[in-house]
Amino acid sequence: MTDVHSPVIRSKNMAAIKGKDTKPEMKIRKMLHAAGFRYRLHVKDLPGKPDLVLPKYKAVIFVHGCFWHMHDCDQFKLPKSNQEFWINKLSRNKKNDELHHAALLSAGWRVCTIWECALKGSNKLQLEEILTLLRSWLIKPKLNVELRGEES
Ligand SMILES: [Zn+2]
Repeated sequence: MTDVHSPVIRSKNMAAIKGKDTKPEMKIRKMLHAAGFRYRLHVKDLPGKPDLVLPKYKAVIFVHGCFWHMHDCDQFKLPKSNQEFWINKLSRNKKNDELHHAALLSAGWRVCTIWECALKGSNKLQLEEILTLLRSWLIKPKLNVELRGEES
């Protein structure tokens, strides 16, 4: 069977999936902005280049794709081919996430991870619910927060 995408288009698609300004991230950005929170984007000099940085609250937010960051949820499916390659690559991503997380915490940042499954798919949370959680996390100094789709 021939592939409908040429190799170039395929690699573009993959980049779009992995890249910045992904749709789930845009949802969070729009929502926080509308709620009056101000942030910086993809700050390069912080470990892991957090997607959103709120200096006023000493807080960073990562919006993680469940595939690329190997989330333990129903949105994660290992590709059928090249499994060894994918396991290596994705495990490396996951390990890096842990290192970045630890480095941020020890530098005094508070870290929120929003998993893609909190934003899309059958177990997603309501946006208002996410905003409520983020707001209370930002205002009250709790160290970490992780938002994910509800367990099915
Ligand atoms: Zn997930």
